[in-house]
Amino acid sequence: MELKNLLEKVNQNTGGDPQAINLIRRAYEFAEKAHMKQKRESGENYIIHPFAAALTLTKLNLDTNTIAAALLHDVLEDTEVIPQELEKEFGKEITFLVQGVSKISKIKYKGTEHRVENLRKMILAMAENIRVILIKLADRLHNMETLNFLPVEKQRRIALETLEIYAPLANRLGMGELKGHLEDLAFPYVYPQEYQWLLKETKDKYQEREKYLENVQPILEKALREEGINDFQIHTRAKHYYSLFKKLQKYDMDFGKIYDLAALRIIVSNVEQCYLVLGILHKLWRPLPGRIKDYIALPKPNGYQSLHTTVFCLDGKMTEFQIRTQAMHEEAEKGIAAHWAYSEGGKPLSGAKVDERFTWVRQLKEWQKELHGSDEFLDSLKIDFFKDRIFVLTPKGDVIDLPDGATPVDFAYQIHSDIGNQCAGAKVNNKMVALDYILNSGEVVEIITQKNKKPSPSWLDFAKTNEAKNRIRKYLNITSPKIKSPTIFPIELKISYQDRVGLLKDISHTFYKEKININSVENDKKAPFIYIRFFLSNKNFLTALLTKLKQIKGIEEIEIKKSRLD
Ligand code: MN
Repeated sequence: MELKNLLEKVNQNTGGDPQAINLIRRAYEFAEKAHMKQKRESGENYIIHPFAAALTLTKLNLDTNTIAAALLHDVLEDTEVIPQELEKEFGKEITFLVQGVSKISKIKYKGTEHRVENLRKMILAMAENIRVILIKLADRLHNMETLNFLPVEKQRRIALETLEIYAPLANRLGMGELKGHLEDLAFPYVYPQEYQWLLKETKDKYQEREKYLENVQPILEKALREEGINDFQIHTRAKHYYSLFKKLQKYDMDFGKIYDLAALRIIVSNVEQCYLVLGILHKLWRPLPGRIKDYIALPKPNGYQSLHTTVFCLDGKMTEFQIRTQAMHEEAEKGIAAHWAYSEGGKPLSGAKVDERFTWVRQLKEWQKELHGSDEFLDSLKIDFFKDRIFVLTPKGDVIDLPDGATPVDFAYQIHSDIGNQCAGAKVNNKMVALDYILNSGEVVEIITQKNKKPSPSWLDFAKTNEAKNRIRKYLNITSPKIKSPTIFPIELKISYQDRVGLLKDISHTFYKEKININSVENDKKAPFIYIRFFLSNKNFLTALLTKLKQIKGIEEIEIKKSRLD
């Protein structure tokens, strides 16, 4: 790995822009100097790490500022360099990207099931710009490639985090190739035995399969040409190990049910040809019912488009085919990164042009709901998917998902109703704040509780979540002195009656007018009795109630069954 390789790639991507090349060279030299005293665990110079991340991003054709930020991505975290210095040297945008990467690197991962999805969201929300995520993914890729140099416990934690957080993020961004790569690197660390088993099981199967596909290919090529399709590519595609493993788990580890162990991919020039090829395939070989998937008409949520079909192929063997255009292929491999692809002029494609070509951007825009009234494509990639949500952390690093505008009181009730009720104060990033302080994504929130503290009615003025509001109201009602006082009397009335339409309604109306809540009403099944249970806070209320009840037509006798009145 040499700087020369990187510069060559940047040269290609930018159409030989001398400013771009100069910037990358300066960023490299700055990072190399800053990390001078550091070594990687492998013993190599530290610079090979940011260099590798930058190289990954040039392969995705990312813009020059992102490449420069990748080279500098660890200088704020690991060296003496301060943001002001970086900004003076490289400007606001690169500094913003580097700070973004440092920020999300600090998020602590805890594999607590349902929190994982929140953590992914938080990373997206905190990154503020998708380019920050792309740098982080490239950083993670190299760390995974060199994971064998780390101590065993660290290996497992990082690999698990990769499987649960970063690979799904890559997938959400439509970056199929990177996702598969990250998963396959993590797989042996997280599931060592299963990995060894799979390796052994698939060794012959993959070879056998590839040989078979070599025989299929010429038949297919001939058929395509006969139908007038001359401009196409056919790739053999072996399934990634980890995705194969996950699929096997779904099918009781039965290889017989996996039809895409190695599959053929056909890439053609346009959408019409995709459907044409599907027809040609189905004429050649009978399709397996229920296995035809039209992801062109109905793209996957991450924007993935292709036609999939499984047919009884040569010798009746079930084989999967994927058909797509070149643009769909680029998109499937590179996902959102495909949208930074430089046109020949060396300038990023304009928003409108990209829009027409890529579903992903359309979807992104849906997520964003509203753009910032700017035509600048890079601007439009600000992450606003979770515009109305914020993600804050507990002192232990758990992620709490709250609506925008939430306060420490909302946070407290989100953790536990007791913490909410006893909330006496709050610290945000270790500083005391008022309870009506508006929280921001990424802040660490600590609630100070006090045993005898009670919620204040004023909290209702600023609490944002229904959870908090309901709890506060509930607490204020139930434990108000009037009800909690020792003079609370449980009462049961046994009422004998002559039944008539509307009797029960009249009884309950009487209670309502006396402002007494009925707890339960029960009918005696054998005799004309009803039992009514309720609480009284003042025994004097009972006389009035009984008088009113006795006036109701149909009520014969009222007996006080249970009471502490005497
Ligand atoms: Mn790094």
